Amino acid sequence: MLAFTAGRLLTPTEAVEHALVLVDEGRVLEISAQSSQQLPAGVSVCDFGDDLMAPGYIDLHIHGSAGYDVMDDTAEALPAIEQLLARHGVTSYFPTTVTAPMDTMLRALERLANAIEKRESANPESKGRARPLGIHLEGPFLSHARRGVHPPENLLVPTLALFERFWQAARGRIRMMTIAPELEGAPEVIAEAARRGVAVSLGHSDADFAAAERGIVAGARHATHTFNAMRPLDHRSPGILGAVLTDHRLSADIIADGVHLDPAVVKLFAGTKGAEQTVLITDAISATGMPDGRYRLGSFEVDVHAGKCTANGKLAGSVLTMDCAVRNLARFAEWDLSQAVVAASRNPARVARIATKGVLTAGADADFVVLSAAGEVLRSFIGGVECSR
Ligand SMILES: [Zn+2]
Repeated sequence: MLAFTAGRLLTPTEAVEHALVLVDEGRVLEISAQSSQQLPAGVSVCDFGDDLMAPGYIDLHIHGSAGYDVMDDTAEALPAIEQLLARHGVTSYFPTTVTAPMDTMLRALERLANAIEKRESANPESKGRARPLGIHLEGPFLSHARRGVHPPENLLVPTLALFERFWQAARGRIRMMTIAPELEGAPEVIAEAARRGVAVSLGHSDADFAAAERGIVAGARHATHTFNAMRPLDHRSPGILGAVLTDHRLSADIIADGVHLDPAVVKLFAGTKGAEQTVLITDAISATGMPDGRYRLGSFEVDVHAGKCTANGKLAGSVLTMDCAVRNLARFAEWDLSQAVVAASRNPARVARIATKGVLTAGADADFVVLSAAGEVLRSFIGGVECSR
């Protein structure tokens, strides 16, 4: 058994002062205030002093980091990405594919499924690195009008047969899918994906309000990088953004890097979707944690300068880290740090329907971060094991 103490713990929706956390076999056994609990005999304590314990962050949308893309066909890619993620407080993630030629996509899905399965069988050498929980399929079922940098020649009209090919290649490891609901065939694919437990997310879409609502009725329950790659809000024709911002059945995510959205829009979004349905993602690409230069995203090249990633003049992912996204949300939206932490932990876990992560309560996985009062990540633990820094 392991014991941890901290000045304050976020569950994350409640705060426990002078917290004592008992961990056994990678899971939280009990959380209490230190004064009310005697330590079991023979248990040594890891004390975090006045610092803050919070659930490990979960990134639903990440393409790469540390010079590597999740679609790279090399054994070094995921371990390098996962080490960088853990340093920034991310303990679980959903490797996100971009639109590419069919055979490239199928091979990437197969490799990612292998990696996810390997981690399920508790490979000891991978302890202390962020864990991939499932694949996020971003494309090819996207709108040509709102494709961003996804290559137009590889975009496809959704069909059940195509979805089945991706599903088979990924051996059922697709846990999230971004899709434009206005495409012909989209409602059927949304309904089937939702039936299989995929978190269907509306995005890269030029949908009007009615088409967005049809996607929600079919089973979509989230929205991808809200405002970016979406038909803009018009006050007489609200479109997909009108639906995302007002429909309480949808949670939604944003890229709070100060580049993709003006801080005032982050504040508007946070005030509208609220503490329950605001989700932070990074949409990070291989350049994250690297110097400026030219990098890959899936099968195309991206220029990175001063925190901005572009391909042919269009924004192409970010170099954002999740700890920075949390601090930015708190600052932009004028939220407490503890509120912003919820948007990076409990809320994404809810989107993916994973009850044992994103929270620090009895029975949850012992995935947690130690934060300074300013939200800097000091240490990260996965299953009670510390990640190397
Ligand atoms: Zn995107």
